[in-house]
Amino acid sequence: MEYDAVIGLEVHAQIHTHTKMFCACHVMKDTGDIPPNTYVCPVCLALPGALPVVNRRAVEIGMLTGMALHCTINTTNVFARKSYFYPDLPKGYQISQYDLPLASDGYLDIEVDGETRRIRIRRAHLEEDTAKLYHLDDGRVQVDFNRAGAPLLEIVTEPDLHTAEEVRAYATLLRTILVYLGVNTGDMEKGMMRFEANVSVRPRGSTLFGTRVEIKNLNSFRSLTRGVEYEIQRQSALLDSGGVVEQETMGWNESAGYTYPQRSKEHAHDYRYFPEPDIPPLQLDPAWIAAVRAELPELPTERRSRLTTQYGIRAYDAELLAADRALADYFEVAVKMGQELALAPQDVANWMTGELFRLLNEANRPITGCRVTPEHLIALLFLVQKGTISASAAKKVLSEVFVTGEAPNTVVKRLGLAQMSDTDALHALVAQVLDQNPIQLAQYLEGKESVWGWFVGQVMRASQGKANPTQTREILQKSLEQRRSSQS
Ligand code: ADP
Ligand code: MG
Ligand code: ZN
Repeated sequence: MEYDAVIGLEVHAQIHTHTKMFCACHVMKDTGDIPPNTYVCPVCLALPGALPVVNRRAVEIGMLTGMALHCTINTTNVFARKSYFYPDLPKGYQISQYDLPLASDGYLDIEVDGETRRIRIRRAHLEEDTAKLYHLDDGRVQVDFNRAGAPLLEIVTEPDLHTAEEVRAYATLLRTILVYLGVNTGDMEKGMMRFEANVSVRPRGSTLFGTRVEIKNLNSFRSLTRGVEYEIQRQSALLDSGGVVEQETMGWNESAGYTYPQRSKEHAHDYRYFPEPDIPPLQLDPAWIAAVRAELPELPTERRSRLTTQYGIRAYDAELLAADRALADYFEVAVKMGQELALAPQDVANWMTGELFRLLNEANRPITGCRVTPEHLIALLFLVQKGTISASAAKKVLSEVFVTGEAPNTVVKRLGLAQMSDTDALHALVAQVLDQNPIQLAQYLEGKESVWGWFVGQVMRASQGKANPTQTREILQKSLEQRRSSQS
């Protein structure tokens, strides 16, 4: 039988505030070198009687993200207790949102195989992170509360996804948006974004939903797509063999590549959700919502289409550049500087997505803090345009500037890469080549046109590749004509 998959994604994204969701403890952006249990207080350690206070900036960031996801921002927000026991949850409940989340009913348009598909977003709500457990080799478990109470945004889609590629496209776009907003570093290895995928299958053509399985701890794009693919296969094979899919929560074993049952599915009523009595319902002032909306930057999808229409660059380059706000900013700054020098935006794009990307990838560095500034790139392209250096010399110069941060001109001088454009020197060189090769000269003058290319090559070689090719051709042409007329 043929099956179609139905997939809904829950994403937990850390949001970058200075302090935790309900207390003044510092939020760590990196688990780095900070000793465990450094940033803790009575609130996030859940000492009896400690009271939570909502982090204003977390609410703003939640609103901003909700807006970027085309959600409605709900003016009445209620925090709720979600009760369960686990050693990483000191209170025995998590403060989350249930009935009245911060944002609801949004969407993201993803592109897969050249087609645009709209993925509806059910809700985006604020909650607090758990502590981090460390399972030691000897079987002991240690707990670090530095992360406990850090703000999280949970973003939940409708079951609108149907393939692992769509899941990947959605997750990638969501990550790009969060990074654009400055809400999250997008660093998956540090757990800045964590995915849970709900997967079910149904016979092709059916409109009913099959029983779903929730896959936990998918912490990279690779795990996400592999986990989803594996689960689609597993459920299809199970149904084919006459089995039934159990509604359950599964884990993903990344190294062995399979899902395994963790626990039977818990239901909302198991959590005994009820409104958090220590936090009054939050009423968002429309003026505040409007002020946050004014903070919303241009987003990757819009920026991509503006880059193509405004600068006429290829769609593919626009996509690469718009995927990172800093890259797109770099590009636009460079293009503006290049305008006065009549440099084409497409040339700027080519050098960025070609050589500069190669250097950044090799060094595994972001564009931010790159020693090649937009000024440097433009200066370099101008040297090529003027004919001072060849394109291949420019590559050499770029990789030098990438390391040293010197001005391109300085590197050109230091490495002696300037093309020979000085006409006197070139004239002398051409004359020398013609004098040294009387046989070929005679052949050319007798009408053997093919020797022309050979002469060009000889001049280039005599200049050790530094002769400006255009000027070389011009001078050679003139010199040969002179020799022809002086012969007759
Ligand atoms: P819970 O809170 O128990 O995890 P929800 O009903 O809020 O459950 O749904 C969580 C996610 O599961 C959502 O992303 C939703 O789109 C998705 N989902 C719901 N039903 C199905 C289904 N039959 N197949 C796949 N995904 C589903
Ligand atoms: Mg769930
Ligand atoms: Zn605290």
